[in-house]
Amino acid sequence: MNRTPQFKMVFLELTNGCNFSCAFCAKHKMSRPVGFMDAALAMRILDQLQEHELTNRVAFHVMGEPLLHPRFGEILAYAHSVGLKVAINTNGSLLSEERNDMLLEHADRVLISLRSRSEAAFSRNAGSKRVCDYSSYISRVGQLITKKLELGTGPKIYLRLFANDCSDPLFAESVSQSHEFIRKLNTVLRQRVLPSGSIEIYPDVRVVFDKLTEFWLPSTTGKYYRSYWGKCDALTDELAILWNGDVTTCCYDYDGLNRFGNLANNGILEVVAGDEFRNYLVSFAKMKLPTPVCQECFGASSRWRWMLRQLYSLGQFINLFPPKSFL
Ligand code: SF4
Ligand code: SF4
Repeated sequence: MNRTPQFKMVFLELTNGCNFSCAFCAKHKMSRPVGFMDAALAMRILDQLQEHELTNRVAFHVMGEPLLHPRFGEILAYAHSVGLKVAINTNGSLLSEERNDMLLEHADRVLISLRSRSEAAFSRNAGSKRVCDYSSYISRVGQLITKKLELGTGPKIYLRLFANDCSDPLFAESVSQSHEFIRKLNTVLRQRVLPSGSIEIYPDVRVVFDKLTEFWLPSTTGKYYRSYWGKCDALTDELAILWNGDVTTCCYDYDGLNRFGNLANNGILEVVAGDEFRNYLVSFAKMKLPTPVCQECFGASSRWRWMLRQLYSLGQFINLFPPKSFL
């Protein structure tokens, strides 16, 4: 790929199904059917992304747990073989020796979102059809890291913990659970791990803190205030493709309501050169949020948070707060 690709990242959803059932997850709001992307479609899309130099990075999720896809390994290896860098966002519960080998050989980044970083949270989130108990869950994560360290190569691994800001009631629980998980992981790895901030705990193995998006969380006040303007770089930075081939704006659109094309029967160039795509771009360029999904995405559950979000967005527009990303 010689020129700068159009998108920094394309999210390719292999499935919107998940073996966890986290209380805060948008899966509980999602109304579209659960399914798996046809492997031939996934490979065709990967070919087109590469051939038309649309991106050099893909992530195999919008919603769902990608390791559930029955042909996950093949699709991952194929993406790697056509020269794309692949980020895998997984809850970690399905890691196994065989899958670890696939990830270590073909993935560029593995983000293990530790939704269940304490025994209590694990019991709540792992759902009734859990595939392992809490101690095996920690061991599975530890085994991937141990193998990577033994090999001295392989993808960057991020242990992604969620801690919302301190006004959020989840904050204290989130931080103490994160510490508990890291302490337990520490006993598996037999190394000292600092339990705060974004830390490189081993070469290319990092602990990062992230926020749960308010858009996904149930409103604590029972109210939700929509925003009508905001700075959004989706579509200049990213594109999301759902398991049935629908193309949408971003990984926040869990129900695919911002859909503006489908790749089961159309080529990707047709979609990104189409009028609907351009209308979104024009709207975002004016900071105008084009759809109810976007207006909710930039909204908030209290007036002051709503105001702060708008001000922050304005700050981003005039580049006071450049966006950060660890991907
Ligand atoms: S692991 Fe992720 S996709 Fe699955 S239920 Fe939890 S938050 Fe949702
Ligand atoms: S504003 Fe719309 S396009 Fe932008 S991140 Fe939110 S839902 Fe996605």
